[in-house]
Amino acid sequence: MPQKLIVAIDGPAGSGKSTSAKIVAQKLSYLYIDTGAMYRAVTLLVIRKNISNKQDIVKLVEKTDIELDFVDGETKVKINGQDVTKEIRSPEVNSMVSEISKIEGVRTILVNKQREMSNSNRGIVMEGRDIGTVVFPEADVKIFMTASIDTRSERRMKEYHEKGTTISLEDVKENLLSRDEIDSQRDVSPLIRASDAVEVDTSKVSIPEQVNIILEEIKKAAYRKGIKFSAVNLKEF
Ligand code: C5P
Repeated sequence: MPQKLIVAIDGPAGSGKSTSAKIVAQKLSYLYIDTGAMYRAVTLLVIRKNISNKQDIVKLVEKTDIELDFVDGETKVKINGQDVTKEIRSPEVNSMVSEISKIEGVRTILVNKQREMSNSNRGIVMEGRDIGTVVFPEADVKIFMTASIDTRSERRMKEYHEKGTTISLEDVKENLLSRDEIDSQRDVSPLIRASDAVEVDTSKVSIPEQVNIILEEIKKAAYRKGIKFSAVNLKEF
């Protein structure tokens, strides 16, 4: 099997992970995987089935097919063949996802799926909360993205407005802070910077700058492993 690179990008919501990870993956023709979308899909399923018992939730996740497909710059998500791309971004899912993500059995199933997704010949850019610490502790490149809470809230607010959802800045901020707290305090795979991750504070750097920082790290890793590095120009750059 040809050698390939695994790039892990972690950080809290609104830190710029998805934006940069998608661009980097497209520039390198790597596989892009948004693991948050998987936890969101499970949460939507739990809401729809209206179950609260942890064991029942794990059993349900075991027999559910969650499919991610990156098309035209967007992660399309299907639960048992049904497209739920829009629904997994609802405020209701936002407010429950961190509680569901605490369940160990759910994480075990999703982490296994995430590792399986890397079984292709292509390089991979995977983003989430525990990629560099748990899913791929041996990742070739680890990036930890951060940004101030105000910057993150404003970014999320803008995304909501673009999608036509009305929500106050205060509510957005409250949800982000609550998810930060639960995600970083949980016992299993908390959101934490891996000791060997490069930290990128995106509060004051532009998107092209973030992308370049990540690409430089990947270039160094490619050189170390003797793998060819070539990044294409994208229209928006
Ligand atoms: O990345 P996104 O904000 O869509 O993730 C939604 C939630 O999914 C996070 O707040 C977190 O609770 C959970 N998550 C996780 N581990 C990951 C990715 C996401 O626990 N690797």
